[in-house]
Amino acid sequence: MTKGTLFTVCAPSGAGKTSLVNALVASLDNLTVSVSHTTRQPRPGEKNGVNYHFVTEDDFIHMLTCNLFLEHAQVYDHYYGTSQRWLLEHLHTGTDVILEIDWQGAQQVRRLKPDTVTIFILPPSREVLERRLRSRGKDSEAVIAQRLQAAVDDISHYVEFDYLVVNDDFSQAVKDLQAIVHSQRLTQLAHAPKLEKLLTDLLS
Ligand code: 5GP
Repeated sequence: MTKGTLFTVCAPSGAGKTSLVNALVASLDNLTVSVSHTTRQPRPGEKNGVNYHFVTEDDFIHMLTCNLFLEHAQVYDHYYGTSQRWLLEHLHTGTDVILEIDWQGAQQVRRLKPDTVTIFILPPSREVLERRLRSRGKDSEAVIAQRLQAAVDDISHYVEFDYLVVNDDFSQAVKDLQAIVHSQRLTQLAHAPKLEKLLTDLLS
């Protein structure tokens, strides 16, 4: 049976990960992004079931004890997790799936599904990163410094990833992500099942 590929995408806050992943998913067929569960409050414009499944801490802990998450992590003060069932159903039907998660979750996914293709997105410079983190609201210097340090800590995990994409020029970064997905689809393991008829014919 054809099986989908699992892509795990991580980035520090301020790298533009969500916009890039949305553009990538919109540009390719048979690729979808997993909607995580979280205990954090929705931000303006975010919709339940679209951006996240927003749940209470009690619900999250209940799901955790029922073993419903493939991976989960605490990021800042909130819990985040990936539904195991949804993910496996999509992979089994041959859909390629993107997990947009943090590096702690990526470590768990790598252990459980070593064939996952992992991608780390980087901002083009420290200045741009700082500017993007500053433009998120009227936060104090101390909060911005804290966020910058958290982003630097996240970036230190880049060595754990298969691919690095720099989000300098947005459309180039989308092209880089498309190239990664496309090359993965051409690997023998992913492609041969789709070429069954051709291969049988050629080898007869
Ligand atoms: P935000 O609250 O800004 O949407 O996300 C905060 C961080 O949590 C981001 O790094 C995001 O990728 C990560 N995140 C979102 N969903 C999940 C998830 O299901 N699992 C893990 N481990 N991290 C997640």
